[in-house]
Amino acid sequence: MLRLRPHHILDIVRNIGHGRKMEPHPFGHDVHGITQKIIADVDQPLLLVVGADDICLPCSKLNADQMCVDVLLQCDDKPSKQEYNDALDVRVLNFLNLKEGTQLTVREYLNVVHAKLDGIEKVCTHPKEDENYRLEGLTMGLEKLGITR
Ligand code: SF4
Repeated sequence: MLRLRPHHILDIVRNIGHGRKMEPHPFGHDVHGITQKIIADVDQPLLLVVGADDICLPCSKLNADQMCVDVLLQCDDKPSKQEYNDALDVRVLNFLNLKEGTQLTVREYLNVVHAKLDGIEKVCTHPKEDENYRLEGLTMGLEKLGITR
């Protein structure tokens, strides 16, 4: 079963939508590997977590306590990525009417995302990311994954 942060899945769908390359990242995290797994099988089981997930596990920024030590460099005050991500995932779950610890398939999760697409960019767009770019990527990514209303 995949263990993933809700917003990490949205990041992946946006990447797929925009046709971004799936390459290993210098941090060592597994966005590229999880992306390939999702493309290969959207019907696989998924556990929604708020905390370090399967993408974070191999990342050099994850410490021994399973906490992210990275910061958001694009913000002047350089907030903790752990705190930013936790708050973002709680916001995304609330927006989607889902709870932390929910088990479902990737497709079922993306079906919920698709049904709530209107306005989702207001909830999940990252600092310095364009909201329209985010929504466009999500829309095209869902289409590429065969998720339709
Ligand atoms: S949230 Fe932190 S630990 Fe997880 S992949 Fe991103 S930088 Fe790495």
